[in-house]
Amino acid sequence: MELSMVSMDLTLLHCPLCLRPLKPPVYECKGGHLACADCCVERPGNQRQCQKCERGGGFDVRNTAVDAVLSSARVECPHEGCGLYVTYHKLADHLSVCPLAPCKCLVPVCGYEGPPPALSHHITTVHAMPMHRIQYGNALQLQVPLSEPRLLPFAEEDGRAFFLVGGVLDIGAPIAVSVVCIKAGASPLPHYVAKLWANGPPGEPKGRTDAVKVEMEVTCSKDPGDVAVQELTFFTIPPKPLAGAKLVSLHIQIDKLTS
Ligand SMILES: [Zn+2]
Ligand SMILES: [Zn+2]
Ligand SMILES: [Zn+2]
Ligand SMILES: [Zn+2]
Repeated sequence: MELSMVSMDLTLLHCPLCLRPLKPPVYECKGGHLACADCCVERPGNQRQCQKCERGGGFDVRNTAVDAVLSSARVECPHEGCGLYVTYHKLADHLSVCPLAPCKCLVPVCGYEGPPPALSHHITTVHAMPMHRIQYGNALQLQVPLSEPRLLPFAEEDGRAFFLVGGVLDIGAPIAVSVVCIKAGASPLPHYVAKLWANGPPGEPKGRTDAVKVEMEVTCSKDPGDVAVQELTFFTIPPKPLAGAKLVSLHIQIDKLTS
């Protein structure tokens, strides 16, 4: 069977009650107006009454022909580089998990927005920040300067960009860290967990009291800068190794959980 393209006014496939794309199963009134099944019953006081008909008829008849049209109407994801065709009434669901959904630049005043690959490029070129390479399950060592209240190194594998913000306000004060994955947030899987060690690489002999570890779930967000500030985790490094040091050595490891 040949695939043929049809051009049509997509608003014809919208429900007059929720104003969103009609979602099967679809019901119709005696005047031929359509509504999603969910919408017909979700209007308290106005249940199953058509507002377009003068006498307000009910949505009594299932329209399987329209259901079939809705199930076959596909549109291309509008995100640059995605190219996926999705059923029209499922487009909103896809947009919230699309790996190429535009994300905001981490630099607060910048205002740039782009799909994660373009954003990574933007960060390394426009802001001249190095993109550290990381492999899932392997620790990467980062030097966090004590003098700076915020630091923004990045890590990336399989095109996924992560963003760490860390800062120490004072000697002996807790370090504030936050790890955010730069991608649309609603995606169910994979999940990421970040582990951070201070003053000692992972695998150091057990019993080293100055190897401090924190573990945190990584939030995915299209606005990573905002999330990083909201979801800070604090951990305290014993003061001794900090004395006189200008840098804190942080080891970060990101684990990818697919189930
Ligand atoms: Zn509806
Ligand atoms: Zn009607
Ligand atoms: Zn997409
Ligand atoms: Zn920027």
